[in-house]
Parts: sequence; C-alpha cells; structure tokens
Amino acid sequence: MTQSHITIIGAGIIGISTAAFLQRAGHKVTVIDRVAPGDGCSFGNAGGVAFAEVMPTIHPRILLKIPGWLLDPLGPLTIRWSYLPKALPWFLAAGRNALPDRVRKITAARGALSLRVVGDFDTLLHDANASDLLVKKDSLRLYDTEAQYRAEETERIAKREYGYEMKKLSPGEIAEIEPDLARDFACGSFHGGWYYVRNPKTVVTSIAECVVRNGGEIICDDVLEVGQEGSRAAHIRLKAGGERKLDRLVICAGAYSNFFARSFGDKVLLEAERGYHLVIPDPGITLGRSFTYVATPMAVTPMDMGLRLAGTDEFAGLEAEPNWKRADALWPFAKRCLPNLRAIDQNVSRWMGRRPGTPDGLPVIGPSRRLTNVWYGFGHSHMGLTWGPTTGRLLSELLSGNKSNIDLSPFRADRF
Ligand SMILES: Cc1cc2nc3c(=O)[nH]c(=O)nc-3n(C[C@H](O)[C@H](O)[C@H](O)COP(=O)(O)OP(=O)(O)OC[C@H]3O[C@@H](n4cnc5c(N)ncnc54)[C@H](O)[C@@H]3O)c2cc1C
Repeated sequence: MTQSHITIIGAGIIGISTAAFLQRAGHKVTVIDRVAPGDGCSFGNAGGVAFAEVMPTIHPRILLKIPGWLLDPLGPLTIRWSYLPKALPWFLAAGRNALPDRVRKITAARGALSLRVVGDFDTLLHDANASDLLVKKDSLRLYDTEAQYRAEETERIAKREYGYEMKKLSPGEIAEIEPDLARDFACGSFHGGWYYVRNPKTVVTSIAECVVRNGGEIICDDVLEVGQEGSRAAHIRLKAGGERKLDRLVICAGAYSNFFARSFGDKVLLEAERGYHLVIPDPGITLGRSFTYVATPMAVTPMDMGLRLAGTDEFAGLEAEPNWKRADALWPFAKRCLPNLRAIDQNVSRWMGRRPGTPDGLPVIGPSRRLTNVWYGFGHSHMGLTWGPTTGRLLSELLSGNKSNIDLSPFRADRF
C-alpha cells in the first residue's frame, strides 16, 4: 500500500489519535477542526480509561431503571420532551440492543476493542513525551448496601469473562486505600480496569503537538461541505479558507459526524448524549484515584486542575442551551462519598459536552458504504477517551491495508 495524504475532520481524541497512528504508518496528515485540539467533547470528560467496562451502558438491568430516571429532570438520564420525536428512532434501536442476545454480542465487540487500550495509549503518550498523563491506578466503586453490590453480579461475571476481576473491598479496606472517603459504605470494589488521565485536554494537545512536530498540519476552520465527484469525496469547502482537494478523508467529527455521513448517503443513528462536569479546584480532600458511586452514573476523578465530578446523560439535541443545574446536581453525590468536600463556590467551573452516542454503544470504525475514499471514526459515546488511541490504530491499519487484531464487522457504518 502506497502512503497517501489523509485529511481528518475533527481534532478530538479520536481524530488526533488517528492522525498520530496514520503518521506512524508513514502517511501525511491534515487535521481540520473549528476549535482548538481537544476543545470538543474530549475536553471535559471524567478522564476514565475504563477498558474493563465491557458491558454496554444500556442493558436489561439499567433498562428497568430508565422510566424512574426520566421522571426527574435532574436525574441521571433525562430527555427534553420536545426533542423526543427526533430521538425516537434512536431510543427504539437502543431498546432492541438492550435484549440479552444483543448485549452478549455488543459486550464481545467492546471486549475486543478494549484489548490493546493501554498499549495504544502508552504508544501515543510515549511519542508525545507525556506518559505521566495516564495514571495506572484502578478506580473504586462504592456501595451503600450489600443488595446494591449483589445486583451488579451480571456485570461482574461479564467482566470476569474478559479477564477483569472486580475485587470486593470491606469498609476497612476502602478507608485504608482512600482515607478521605466516607466510612459508612457497606462495601466497595475495584473496577477491574479503569485508569485515569490527569487532564483529558492535555492528552489531546500533547499528541497534537507531536503530530505537528512530525510534519502534520492542523487547521482551525469550519468544514462547511464535502464536495463529491462520482463515488469519491473530491474537496472540502472551509468557512474561512476556500476549498481544499482531498486524497482520502476520515470523519472524526464527534457528535456532528452525522452531518457528513448523511450527506454521503450513509444512514447512521447518532445522538448527542450530553454530559456535565464540575471542577472544584481546591476540594479540601485528598484522593489518589478515581471512583464511581452506585447511586448515580458519575465518576469523581482527581485531576491537575482539581477534583472533577462528571457524568449523567441528557438528550436535547446538539444546540439546546445547557442546564447548569445538572452540573450542580453532581455535587451532593460526591459530598456523600467525601464528607469533607468543599462546597460549590465561585471558583468552581462547569462544562457541558456532547458524547457522540450510537444506540448499540459501539463506535463506527470503517469505510463509508458509498464513497470509496472516506472512512469513519466516531460514535464512541461514554468510552471515547478509552477507545480513542485504539480507534486511531485500527483506522491506520485499515487505511494502510493491514489486517487488524480484532473483527471489525460490529463497527461497520452500514449496521443501522
Ligand atoms: C461528562 C462526560 C464524561 C465522560 N467521561 C468519559 C470517561 O471517563 N472515559 C471515556 O472514555 N469517555 C468519557 N466520555 C466520552 C468522551 O469524552 C467522548 O466519547 C470523546 O471525547 C469523543 O471524542 P471525539 O473525538 O469523537 O469527539 P470530540 O472531542 O467532540 O471531537 C470532535 C471534533 O470535531 C469537530 N467538528 C465537528 N464538526 C466539524 C466541522 N464541520 N468542521 C470542523 N470541525 C468539526 C468539533 O469541533 C470537535 O472538536 C465522557 C463524556 C462526557 C460528556
């Protein structure tokens, strides 16, 4: 396979990882984004490199909880009701994918995708002289009751099948590991494979700087349109910079990727799963690793800029205004776990990001069905940081004509 010039739309963790791996394979790369590298959804995530999370977010046990969650506008999952008709096909597909047989297949695909996550991270961070950004300490999970712990047995069995053991911890062991956590949990466990990064934005910028050092080009502009000639993407039209001819194109535009896929005639189901974070710069506690708490889907992560509380899922489309009360609603849960956590004050920062979500919890990694010189890398939902470097490697292998270590058919763009 001859080396080529590859244009990538999107400079989030997926686009930048793809550029870096393509460059390692000898290709020339140009990355285009309307914002600076890592300023999209990749900016504010919980920082979890959660490779043991093989079960999809929506599965039979969670499905039963959803009706209750939807009744609470500040709950873990909410939909703005005016948006429901638009999101309905996605929700119906998500429901079908929560059936046990589908969950088994999706789990297998996620397990395969996670196999080389840490190695692929190490490769890119080492090249970028930023290996210390990945902290290899397993995350904790905290339970108020033994019944809550028992309820997660299915998830533990699924993880064990893929080699990830969630070791159970007594209250005494929790206190020994993290003394600032509350003392009245019924029990805890390790996640079995959930490291964290000290700053998700810096992960992207460090790799982006390395791409530029190695001769790659990063352009800050808005891609308005991809022009087609026959079965090829021929050129892109930029808001500020006129037109550029294309050799090969990879779409890594996060939650906005469907604008492109649709214009190419590829039918993909993608929704913005909006999540929030709060960062408390001086939290008043010390934490040596991240944790999750059974009462709500949120992760608490010690980062360079303070303690980050991040999570929840809101369906309201791409452009609706953020509801900052959802960010603040994370704090009481964190306070329950960290009794000495400082209150929300003027120093706290809030953020909302759009996870690019597919209804089966699997990303789209592979060629366009219609255009012969277009590939996709998007739809990583809750796992984009985790799977970013691996997606980059897989796309680089595909575009270089090399065989991958896993079966890529579950990630095809024509599965919807
Ligand atoms: C609250 C929260 C917590 C999370 N926690 C975790 C976690 O702990 N672990 C984990 O693995 N994942 C987590 N995620 C998910 C993860 O952040 C995302 O899956 C990931 O960032 C997606 O990366 P991306 O590169 O696809 O998208 P993005 O980072 O959004 O990048 C896409 C880029 O494309 C650009 N773009 C789009 N359209 C155009 C256009 N027309 N022209 C030019 N540029 C364009 C955008 O500007 C954007 O910068 C979390 C997400 C949220 C919201």
